[in-house]
Amino acid sequence: MLELEEITKVYARGFLRRQKTVAVNNVSLSIKRGKTLGLVGESGSGKSTLGRIALRLIEATSGTVRFDGIDLTGLSRYELRKLRPRMQILFQDPDTSLDPRMTIRECVAEPLIISNRAGPDEMEERILDLLGRVGLHPDLIDRYPFEISGGQKQRVALARVLSLNPEFIVADEPTAALDLSVQAQVLSLIKSIQKKSNLTILFISHDLQVVEQMSDTIAVMHHGSIVEQGSPHDILHTPMESYTRTLVSAAYESDAWLGKITDPRALLP
Ligand code: ADP
Ligand code: MG
Repeated sequence: MLELEEITKVYARGFLRRQKTVAVNNVSLSIKRGKTLGLVGESGSGKSTLGRIALRLIEATSGTVRFDGIDLTGLSRYELRKLRPRMQILFQDPDTSLDPRMTIRECVAEPLIISNRAGPDEMEERILDLLGRVGLHPDLIDRYPFEISGGQKQRVALARVLSLNPEFIVADEPTAALDLSVQAQVLSLIKSIQKKSNLTILFISHDLQVVEQMSDTIAVMHHGSIVEQGSPHDILHTPMESYTRTLVSAAYESDAWLGKITDPRALLP
């Protein structure tokens, strides 16, 4: 479904653009239809850059992106625009993807109107259907983003993404801004939607535990390169690379000694 071949991205900044950052260094990855590839790595490792390149929201310095067999690198603006509804991005922070002056109804309607996917007579039904798919109560339809919770806002952002019936989405740290319990709900919602609509997902997170829950395959990114790739089980139980081992122990050992202590007062003498 999605193939990245030898992708490299160099950012050039500063005087005469002489300061170069190699954000992504010769990365090849592929995702089968209906599957989730989890991309994990610390902040600054190049995950978001790679995710945006996969959608051709930014251009790679070199390398090839193929979506459903179509080479995105060579497409004209017009051809790319026709493909856009089929591939979407879900961002970390719904506050940047939702316009605070628009009601939930308007937020969800906007992509449908722009892409001509629903006429005025069927609009209400489509919006309510989308709210239902993301588990939002229809009573919220006339609220503004500031009147609902962070988890509800991320559900609205997801409804917008789903309104175009995408086949592939990049989810870039989609729950990093949410409380843990809300995070778990949104993650399982994404999973159940994926099952129903056979979505292909590139799931980006700095959190190995989250990636483990969500992914069929995990790719570990470090300083712009993929240092290891495998099933969640292999990555967690027999990590080959020392960097992956560091990630695994950071994610799990700290939990182990904090134990399942739910009341922080239990830590006091
Ligand atoms: P991650 O998502 O893993 O945190 P990013 O892809 O955002 O990593 O960033 C990778 C590297 O590229 C970082 O060193 C970052 O500072 C740099 N970078 C990201 N975006 C830009 C940009 N627009 N211009 C210059 N450097 C950038
Ligand atoms: Mg990022």
